[in-house]
Amino acid sequence: MRYDVAVIGGGPSGAIAAAVLATAGISTVLIERNLENIKPCGGAIPLGLIEEFNIPDELIEKKLSCMRARSPKGRIIEMQMPNGYVGMVRREKFDRYLRSEAERAGAVVVEGLVKSIANSGDGFVINTHHDKVAPLRARKIIGADGANSKTAVDLHFPPNELKVMAMQQRFKYSPAIQQFSDTVEIWFDGEISPDFYGWIFPKADHLAIGTGTEGRRKNVKILQKRFIEKLGITDEPFLDEAAQIPMKPRKSFTQEKAILVGDAAGLVTPANGEGIFFAMQSGKLGAEAMIKHLNYKAPLKDYEKEFRKLYAPIFFGLEVLQSVYYRNDRLRESFVAICADKDVQQITFDSYLYKKMVPASLGTQIKIFSKNIFHLIKGS
Ligand SMILES: Cc1cc2nc3c(=O)[nH]c(=O)nc-3n(C[C@H](O)[C@H](O)[C@H](O)COP(=O)(O)OP(=O)(O)OC[C@H]3O[C@@H](n4cnc5c(N)ncnc54)[C@H](O)[C@@H]3O)c2cc1C
Repeated sequence: MRYDVAVIGGGPSGAIAAAVLATAGISTVLIERNLENIKPCGGAIPLGLIEEFNIPDELIEKKLSCMRARSPKGRIIEMQMPNGYVGMVRREKFDRYLRSEAERAGAVVVEGLVKSIANSGDGFVINTHHDKVAPLRARKIIGADGANSKTAVDLHFPPNELKVMAMQQRFKYSPAIQQFSDTVEIWFDGEISPDFYGWIFPKADHLAIGTGTEGRRKNVKILQKRFIEKLGITDEPFLDEAAQIPMKPRKSFTQEKAILVGDAAGLVTPANGEGIFFAMQSGKLGAEAMIKHLNYKAPLKDYEKEFRKLYAPIFFGLEVLQSVYYRNDRLRESFVAICADKDVQQITFDSYLYKKMVPASLGTQIKIFSKNIFHLIKGS
């Protein structure tokens, strides 16, 4: 059987891409290495994503509109989202649902770890480990196989550059940790992460606590242990998970016959490590470009142009934020202090929940700038 498109990887980016392609009548195969995969992930998604992709309510374990930012000195800023919330999902259920939607749209979903992708005539031949799936042929490829994408290696895409190593532990609620069950907490503290942040994300029956660093796997374990100690948690986690987060788009993520989407393309925003939204958007935009390519020979490059046009300002803004404020505890302290400002909160929530980059008025910009200088001089 020769498919029009083979999608490698069945996380959010691949599942959405396969669903969009199959809905348009494109013969599509989705190859996922493990249909029971539990992707290491905080599972925090913005309201805008839930609305745009019609995510059913039963998958949203919690809707949290209260968020706390904590500084190195222990200053806590509590923020309320006036018109929205962060949705908490559990990736094992979320990914399974998205794949089932792709299958419902007509995509063929198979389980197999892709071992090699080779050019063959005007398409590709895909082999899986132990020949779990008989060799598959496809005219085009969408690589949606995560941060360490095999597709990218075999098809010689430029490397995924900046990767954060992130670790998370899940704890069942107990009387000792019930206090964390209704608020998203973000810790900006060099002892927990010298270059990223720590998070506490409440789910329906457990807490997910994690941290990340641009350093090595060994370091993240030490940081995570310190975080749990600082929180005073003595309960044992029921799950430890770790994975890399690629927080810089590859120099190029399109070729003539293949594209990369989601983490495989490096589409996670700096500073906050948000990847699910960009995985799903790139899966959708990539699949739409693929449909035009197959039907009218439109260049696949249009996908990358469109993605960059829509989201490059957000990536740039967050890269600047990270490089300015995540350098030391003094700067983190002033960053948290600035979060107390209602205008800063409004801008943050608008850009997170709906990915709107609305420039602040000149008056607001001057006010934020002055507060910034004040906190930097004062050292808080
Ligand atoms: C600890 C941690 C916490 C995070 N928290 C958040 C968060 O709260 N909110 C947020 O928005 N983002 C978060 N992220 C980022 C987010 O998880 C990713 O950006 C997102 O999962 C990307 O989706 P994807 O479909 O591109 O890739 P993935 O979700 O990684 O999916 C790739 C899929 O490909 C499959 N695969 C890989 N190799 C092969 C192969 N050779 N053959 C076949 N299949 C293969 C994998 O099994 C997997 O199912 C977090 C990441 C980490 C590591």
